[in-house]
Amino acid sequence: MAAPDPSKKVADRYLKREVLGEGTYGVVYKAIDTHTGQTVAIKKIRLGKQKEGVNFTALREIKLLKELKDPNIVELIDAFPHKGNLHLVFEFMETDLEAVIRDRNIFLSPADTKSYLQMTLKGLAYCHKKWVLHRDMKPNNLLIGSNGQLKLADFGLARMFGSPHRRFTHQVFARWYRAPELLFGAKQYGSGVDVWASACIFAELLLRRPFLQGTSDIDQLGKIFSAFGTPTASQWPDMVYLPDYVEYQYVPAPPLRSLFPMATDDALDLLSKMFTYDPKARISVQQALEHRYFSSAPLPSDPDKLPRPAPKRESKASDFNLQEGPTVLSPPRKSRRVMPERDGFEGNSQQADKVDGGFGDFRQTTDDNSVLIEHI
Ligand code: ADP
Repeated sequence: MAAPDPSKKVADRYLKREVLGEGTYGVVYKAIDTHTGQTVAIKKIRLGKQKEGVNFTALREIKLLKELKDPNIVELIDAFPHKGNLHLVFEFMETDLEAVIRDRNIFLSPADTKSYLQMTLKGLAYCHKKWVLHRDMKPNNLLIGSNGQLKLADFGLARMFGSPHRRFTHQVFARWYRAPELLFGAKQYGSGVDVWASACIFAELLLRRPFLQGTSDIDQLGKIFSAFGTPTASQWPDMVYLPDYVEYQYVPAPPLRSLFPMATDDALDLLSKMFTYDPKARISVQQALEHRYFSSAPLPSDPDKLPRPAPKRESKASDFNLQEGPTVLSPPRKSRRVMPERDGFEGNSQQADKVDGGFGDFRQTTDDNSVLIEHI
């Protein structure tokens, strides 16, 4: 009799439940870790069939996440290959900041807004200290756990930014959160892009709708300039040298207070420092955390007291044989919904599927900086 495959056991550890959503690189589904009883989210990333870039993105995400451990970063619990897919096992998060902002039944007090922003910046400060840019900061990448803790997720586009001559693709941000230097085509940029995006999230928490909703990159810049005034050469000396720089008609800045009538003076002061045009003059995440906005009254709410959308039903290990339809996980407008997975897994199947594939040694090298992943 063949010796039992030790790898199979590890993959066997997870029992699939319903699909949570579909991301850029594959399906995300809920699962139970049978070792711990913990609910997890497994992101299935297609490997092999796609272009090198996608594979590399996946490998990059794993390597980064393995190194990032912080209360405000989504934990990567495990990772394994199975049937040509890479499975990334994350701690399960109940909801995200986009769902909170959009939920009209939720009232966000100034202390609540402060708490959500503080957790966002704490996660980001940790990344920046490790020389990692997030590069895709937006409310639906800020996941929220059952204890109210907010954690940064989706590092699919993040990468190290330590080397001075590294060039990045600038088309990485959801447009509304994109810093002006990216919109002007900057190839080299720094942590300021995450600060700008966090400022957009701060503004969105205050307004309860996305702040600058551009329909194209040109329109996005136009919206930014009509909110803060067209930048002058003295405000941002390097602007004219950016690859896609075009001159915009001069418009003066309206008072910031007119855009955020309910915000406190401290909130407006921090917001204006985060929305500084010149990335070299923009406040850093660490400086933002030290701003008096966070130490003045009202103090940030305790995470477990923060308002969140109504809790969704949790899958428990004891539920495996329940015959029930898929649970509706969120309001219908949100992408997070239950649906059958294309390649066979049904969310309402009588017995939850096991991820039962081989957990062999998994190595892959790339031609960039030779990420080597072994049995992650
Ligand atoms: P995208 O690539 O579009 O940013 P993701 O692949 O990160 O999306 O995630 C797709 C969906 O899966 C998300 O909208 C979210 O609903 C769900 N999801 C992702 N990670 C988790 C998690 N850790 N816990 C619960 N749900 C998650």
